[in-house]
Amino acid sequence: MSERLKGKRVLVSAAAQGIGRASVIAMAREGAMVFATDIDTQSLSSIRDENLENIEIFEMNVRDDDSVQEAVALAKPDVLFNCAGFVHHGTILDATDDEWDFAMDLNLRSMVRTIKAALPGMLERGSGSIINMSSALGSIIGAPNRFVYGTTKAAVVGLTKSVAVDFITQGLRCNCICPGTVDSPSWRDRVDALGKQLGSREEALAQFVARQPMGRVAKAEEIAALVVYLASDESAFTTGHTHIIDGGWSGQ
Ligand code: NAD
Repeated sequence: MSERLKGKRVLVSAAAQGIGRASVIAMAREGAMVFATDIDTQSLSSIRDENLENIEIFEMNVRDDDSVQEAVALAKPDVLFNCAGFVHHGTILDATDDEWDFAMDLNLRSMVRTIKAALPGMLERGSGSIINMSSALGSIIGAPNRFVYGTTKAAVVGLTKSVAVDFITQGLRCNCICPGTVDSPSWRDRVDALGKQLGSREEALAQFVARQPMGRVAKAEEIAALVVYLASDESAFTTGHTHIIDGGWSGQ
């Protein structure tokens, strides 16, 4: 085990599956004490199968202030990885008020909640790294039928830059990650849904893959490697940035 994160306490949201889960495992393997949280505690508990002693799991609903306060009090994080988010399908004409309110709360306001809770402790200790999950669709590039998602994820970029600049001289760093398409349970659901619409799952899959000039989607572990870097002191000179990891989608 290399120990790039030894001595660091890390709080991760949406850790039950996908990028959150892969990041928990990667950071624990680098020696961090990782607090892995989600609302889906059943799936979350399967992280125990990894046999990593430095992972503690518990419920945190990022849409609930009390739940967030409790989790932060327990974790006392040096690193906060805000991973929770949801993808709505459709254009501005399809978006309902309920979808909009839900996405603003889960994709954006949840980060305000966790950062407000975790920041005072980080400032007291004089160091902290906040990593927010945005998306390639969050101001880097547009994709069809991602109005609510793209808008809320773009706001994550603004949130990240604002927090970064306000605390830049106090040992606090705040960055966001902008992935292209990543293999995860919810992405597979989106492939299924588009497949039903198109009458062909293969065609749906081909459309998602075609977004990346590399001709594939990312593995969650590839995003987790970037999370490890941003959590570690190796990234000490980067803050306020959008770290794009998208198989060349926006790089042409
Ligand atoms: P996923 O969507 O498969 O899993 C999301 C997890 O979030 C689930 O375990 C779910 O229980 C949890 N969750 C939902 N509501 C929650 C709440 N209120 N509190 C706490 N946890 C909650 O995972 P994924 O696809 O790896 O996505 C993770 C993040 O990465 C999301 O923010 C997503 O928008 C972003 N992202 C994903 C992709 C992709 O293609 N998969 C690309 C770019 C960005």
